[in-house]
Amino acid sequence: MNHTPNSLKQLIAIQSTADRPAELKRAVDVVVDTYKNPLLKVSRWNIQGKPSALIAPKQHPAPKILLYAHLDVVPAAPESFRLRKNGGRMMGRGVGDMKTFAVLFGELLLGWANANTLPSVGLLLTSDEEVGGMHGTQALLDKKLIQKPTIVIMPDGGDHWQLVTQEKALMQLELTAGGRAAHGSRPWLGKNALLKLMHLYARIDHKLNTARHEGDGKPSVNLAKIETSNTASNIVPSDGVMTLDLRIPTDQESKAALIWIKQEAKKVGISVTVAGAGNSSAMNYAAFPLKEFRTFAQKFLGRTLPFQRCSGASDARFFSAHGIPTVITKPLGGGHHTPDEWIDWNNALEYQRLVKEYTERFGAR
Ligand SMILES: [Zn+2]
Repeated sequence: MNHTPNSLKQLIAIQSTADRPAELKRAVDVVVDTYKNPLLKVSRWNIQGKPSALIAPKQHPAPKILLYAHLDVVPAAPESFRLRKNGGRMMGRGVGDMKTFAVLFGELLLGWANANTLPSVGLLLTSDEEVGGMHGTQALLDKKLIQKPTIVIMPDGGDHWQLVTQEKALMQLELTAGGRAAHGSRPWLGKNALLKLMHLYARIDHKLNTARHEGDGKPSVNLAKIETSNTASNIVPSDGVMTLDLRIPTDQESKAALIWIKQEAKKVGISVTVAGAGNSSAMNYAAFPLKEFRTFAQKFLGRTLPFQRCSGASDARFFSAHGIPTVITKPLGGGHHTPDEWIDWNNALEYQRLVKEYTERFGAR
């Protein structure tokens, strides 16, 4: 494949952000329609407005190898939704994260179908990864709408051929404080709800916001918001809500952190609500099938693939919760979630060849 597939230009042009359900559907339509073949079966779902699809060989309805791509993207300026070439780079919203891979995988499936050599492989397309993946991957697995594969190939992290071994757990907390209003000239007569929150935050920050760089295996805390109903500068605020986003290496540490935060909050009369949570994932490269993948990939590429502990999260956590191993690695690229998102095209094609060879070897039946 030396040309740029038309479907990639089409896909990048679709503003498939969470707030545009029709565009999410259109993105799934483009991939499904482009890679149609009588030997392939397409299953489609729409859960809470989030469309998803599985393209799989009719003779292998429960594929051993599952290729994964989400087609939703984070918002960007309208001019980002245009595929541009810059030297060896493809640029545009979603080229790296991760529409290119839907196209590369679709081309593989169609190639096998045309040659009537389809291995046991499927392509899963979802459209809600950027907003949590609950109505895509999680729902499909929990409702048993898709069968468990042996391995998932997910180029949604692990930039430049790093193999992700761990993704952190995430926890979104809302801490609510009450207080007592007073005139701003006599703060000693009131109880300032925002100050209570700030003092608690300082304790949480000291204990749990210790990560300083990618992969250091430590937890982080983002103080996202502090809100109050108070609008006047001369009133002591009597209520406040603080929103935190915590990323914690393991589920066990995450549970312990929540218990500690609740204890500390209780001492000062602050209540804690878990507004969102996600488990961590761990990838075991010492055992089948990830061990075999790494060995195969290193031989194919002629280089060592380093391990990476990742701060972010992906849909891999849902596969992990179902005991399904996931390979997270991707070719050279960068600028995800920025206006300068790019992917090296030759490197992307090398990735496609790797997946082709691996799938033909390990997905043969
Ligand atoms: Zn992504």
